[in-house]
Amino acid sequence: VARVTATGTGHASGLVDELVGVVGERHVLVDPDMTAGYAVDWTGRFRGSTPAVVRPGSVEEVADVVRLLARRGIPLVAQGGNTGMVGGSVPTAGEVVLSTRRLDRLEPVDALAGQVTAGAGVVLDRLHEHAEAAGFTFGVDLGARSSCTVGGMIATNAGGIHVLRYGSMRAQVVGIEAVLGDGSVVEHLAGLEKDNTGYDLAGLMCGSEGTLGIVTKARLRLRPRFDHVVTAMVPVGSMAAAMEVAATLRATVANLNAVEMVGRAALDLVADHLGVAPPVRAEVVLVVEAAAHHDPSEELAAGLEACGELAGEPAVAVDGAARRALWRFREGVTEAVNAAGIPHKLDVTLPAAALAEFADHVGDAVHRLDPSTTTYLFGHLGDGNVHVNVIGLAPGHDADDVDRAVFELVVAHHGSISAEHGIGTAKRDFLHLNRSPAELAAFAALRRAFDPAGILNPNVLVPT
Ligand SMILES: Cc1cc2nc3c(=O)[nH]c(=O)nc-3n(C[C@H](O)[C@H](O)[C@H](O)COP(=O)(O)OP(=O)(O)OC[C@H]3O[C@@H](n4cnc5c(N)ncnc54)[C@H](O)[C@@H]3O)c2cc1C
Repeated sequence: VARVTATGTGHASGLVDELVGVVGERHVLVDPDMTAGYAVDWTGRFRGSTPAVVRPGSVEEVADVVRLLARRGIPLVAQGGNTGMVGGSVPTAGEVVLSTRRLDRLEPVDALAGQVTAGAGVVLDRLHEHAEAAGFTFGVDLGARSSCTVGGMIATNAGGIHVLRYGSMRAQVVGIEAVLGDGSVVEHLAGLEKDNTGYDLAGLMCGSEGTLGIVTKARLRLRPRFDHVVTAMVPVGSMAAAMEVAATLRATVANLNAVEMVGRAALDLVADHLGVAPPVRAEVVLVVEAAAHHDPSEELAAGLEACGELAGEPAVAVDGAARRALWRFREGVTEAVNAAGIPHKLDVTLPAAALAEFADHVGDAVHRLDPSTTTYLFGHLGDGNVHVNVIGLAPGHDADDVDRAVFELVVAHHGSISAEHGIGTAKRDFLHLNRSPAELAAFAALRRAFDPAGILNPNVLVPT
């Protein structure tokens, strides 16, 4: 695979002319001032450079771009909202960036099927508004909703706050249109709920991180829109107690939508960042939510009652503004951590029985390696998913040591090193902790079959 230099001379300038021939001059960016924002992730941890950002406006243009890059052996990175957490959307090895943001067509909701077809560049907020206007909702929601795109969410198999009710992105995708590494287009968008006609290409694209194809469109399942929502912020004395509360709520509250967790250090950090005192404080605070066609307040109250003694009175909200005020203490953590320093973001999942012990020890394990660090815990407790965010690594300290220490603890407890953010460049060298040599060989073979020229995001996911 050829490497293109950012200087735009020789080989690369011919490339730019060819790209312009496909998408037009306006949609090929080469000025470093214009491409800079595409070459760094939003945390500032992953930086690269690119000879060109190309912004195709149709599947045909995507196919032509991929075909010409495959012919020249030039690698590319697909980029949607660039909100990914693992460096997968950044041209860290000088790749061309293929931005999908212009593929933003939303077709009318198919109310009969309860589905919608969306372009890969559609931003999540817009998808939610579109579904809700038609009496539906979309099953995945997450804090990056104003920027992340349908294609990026499929490529990372995004999770978010409603996984315990609706599953992750994979459970929403009924069909797909995508461009494979040789420029061929696969399209399967009829939206048949039952369709056993061979391999599930749409499912394969979920979590493929731009290595098997460029998603250009998806047929997505929609869910009923619930007009009654109740949110509670629940103080709990320990992580073990929080796991018990989550299990009781899952077993007793039929309309449960979310069980999210913020550890004490993360709660203090976000409260400082927002300049607002939280309505409840404890070792662990849960943000829980129920949604239904009727008011689910009593159902949630009964569920909380069944949890036994809590570490204080929950704060409860039913109207939109008050609910959002509670959610800020959970969803604002990511931004608060970022404002405090460049974070090491580790997104792990543990079996329910092991999660509390892991959470109680992980901060100490990191601190022993580097006493200047602070570890913040928050995440989607209802799915056993904790975000371990470390900031303040001493200068010159090898960050991989911290990652390794956390991942080894995860694997010792039979967990996974990535719950929802994916592998990207950040965790590629640790993938063997969760995947056997036979699995890695199957991954590599799949990759070769879908991308014979090896140009689709070659530096992520599968170790070289
Ligand atoms: C505040 C905040 C909160 C977040 N919360 C969550 C959360 O709760 N749950 C969660 O799962 N994630 C979360 N994330 C991470 C991120 O939003 C998700 O990973 C999201 O799915 C990325 O979408 P994107 O469009 O920004 O993709 P990008 O960051 O642009 O790309 C991510 C990966 O997908 C590939 N890709 C992008 N588009 C395509 C395409 N069309 N075809 C093929 N490959 C493609 C890229 O090459 C890259 O490997 C959060 C991020 C932020 C900033």
